[in-house]
Order: sequence, then structure tokens, then C-alpha cells
Amino acid sequence: MLNDATGRTISYLRLSLTESCQMRCTYCRPAWLMNAAGQGTLCADEMRWLIAQLAQRHGLHKVRFTGGDPTARGDLVEIIERIAAVEGIDDLAMTTNGLTLAHHASDYAQAGLRRVNVSLDSLDAQRFKRITGVGALDRVICGIDAAQAAGLGPVKLNTVVLRGGNDDELCDLALFAAKREVEIRFIELMPMGPLADQWAERYVSAGEMRRSLERRFDGWEPIAQGSGAAALFRVTSHDGWAATIGFITPMSCDFCAACDRLRITSRGELYPCLMDKPAGSLLPAIRDGYDPVLLDRLLAQGLQQKQPRHPHEGHVVMTHIGG
Ligand code: SAM
Repeated sequence: MLNDATGRTISYLRLSLTESCQMRCTYCRPAWLMNAAGQGTLCADEMRWLIAQLAQRHGLHKVRFTGGDPTARGDLVEIIERIAAVEGIDDLAMTTNGLTLAHHASDYAQAGLRRVNVSLDSLDAQRFKRITGVGALDRVICGIDAAQAAGLGPVKLNTVVLRGGNDDELCDLALFAAKREVEIRFIELMPMGPLADQWAERYVSAGEMRRSLERRFDGWEPIAQGSGAAALFRVTSHDGWAATIGFITPMSCDFCAACDRLRITSRGELYPCLMDKPAGSLLPAIRDGYDPVLLDRLLAQGLQQKQPRHPHEGHVVMTHIGG
């Protein structure tokens, strides 16, 4: 078991596979940030060793690949195969921009990936391009359909809500999710990354999001769940639609008390919290000889730094840690 200083048990790893991403979302990735070359990045075998140690000796059972975008790695299928084969990992998921799913969803599923979350911030092609930097709305929608067809479900959609950006589209996005029978989660903007200094003007709280959705959806049933960051609801509309809507509320109502997560970057840095500073590097234990004793010492030191609640300002851009 991995426990932090406040007694929370860590059973969920979010592993960033790369800092590179094909998109340049306005709130996430500064336009000037170049895609990093692979130097210093953990290879498939190093990731497999690390996760096997965490699963077999420390009870980790859930892994999510994130980034950057995991699909920007040429060896993604090999990484999935290696990690899916680790004994004890019963949930292997990936968060992605969806750009490669139309062509590769079935490859990922065959390699052992269980499910995907796909970012979708707008259904308007021009706006989608303005937010993400890539004119690829149709491709992402095909990718969402391909992921469902490949059995990478339940597919979940992630929408970061921006005032003056896409906050007038929540009902349309929820309807899109309802028609495809996928869950959609609306995410509160966090004060990190390129919009950090405009956060107060661009932030929309989950309460305000809900009021906007209530214009179309008038039935709201909370869905109880064991763990997870989203407050979930089954909603129904007066014209007969039903959707599963989640709100991820890092700013208005944090979920730190139930946090079971650890984050490790593609370069082996340990982040006990998305919004806090790194707590050292695991690289010496991994690269310099696969040393389990040193790994445990570095993990224990790092977890001591996990705070009871997250700070209210991020220290780095999300794409570095993996959101
Ligand atoms: N590239 C993948 C994707 O598009 O989902 C995975 C990495 S991305 C950093 C992970 C998640 O972080 C996405 O859902 C993204 O929308 C979210 N994110 C990035 N910056 C954010 C911010 N400042 N506030 C809230 N969410 C953010």
C-alpha cells in the first residue's frame, strides 16, 4: 500500500507518456512550447518496470495514460501491450485529444486498452480550431465513434468550459453526448497554463454551468459513485433526451479528501498533486539499475509532500504533468 501523510491510500496512477501534443489548446499549451524530443523520456520497458513495482508491491490497480497526448508517442501500442500485461492492473485508460482514434482505436483496444476519455470543447468547426489550433472537429467526432465501436467504453468526453469561449454550447454538447450515449464531463478552468492570468474572467463555476444546462434539461438525478473526481447526474430533457453529465470542480468544490492519485511525468518526475510542485524524480531508481529499494524510498519521500488540499494556483502547464 502507498499511503500519504494524511492517510490517503494511493491506488491510481496518471502517467504522462509525453509532453508532446498535436494540439495547442488555448487554456493548456502555450503556443511557443515546442514538442519535446524524446531525450530523458521513459521508454516502454522502464514504464512497465515502474508500474509492475507499484502494482505488485503497492496495490496500484488503475492506470491512465495522459500527456501531452499519449497518441503523439510512436510506441504507444507497445506501451499499452506492456502495461496491460502487468499483473494487478485491472483498469487501463487513456485521456486523448481523439485525433488518432478514427484510425487506431481498434489497435489500442486489441493491445489491451480498456477505455478512453476524449477532449471535446466545441461542436462548431471554426471555434474548435480557434480553441485547439487544429481544424479537426470531424476527425475527432469520427474518433469518438471509432472508440465506441472498438469497445473502448464507457467513452467519456471532457469539456473545459471557458467564459466567452464555449460557455454558450453546454446544452448542445450535452445533447451530442446524449445522442451517442456517452458521458460528458464539464471541467472548471484551473489557473494554470496560458490563461492563468485571465482566470478570473474566463472561469465558469459548475453551479453556473448547471444553471445554463437547466434551460434544456429539467430532470436531475445524482448518480452515486465509489470514487472519481466528477459529480455525476443523469439528466432528462423536456423533449425526451437523457444524458449522463459530470462536473469536475477543482476550484469550486475540491475532491482532495478522497484523492487516490499519483502523477508521474514522462521523464519520471513525481507529482503528488496536479497543482503542486514536483516531489523529486524517480529516474535514479529506474534508469540506474531498476532498484526497488531506492524506488520505495523516493516514493515515500515524495508522498510525504502530498498536501491535504491542493494549492489554488498551478506551478507548471498541464501538458507537462499530464492533466
Ligand atoms: N491531450 C489529452 C487531451 O486532450 O485530453 C490529455 C492531456 S490534457 C492536459 C488532459 C486534460 O486536462 C484535458 O481534459 C484538458 O482539457 C485538461 N486541461 C488542460 N488545461 C486545463 C486547465 N487550465 N484547466 C482545466 N483543465 C485543463
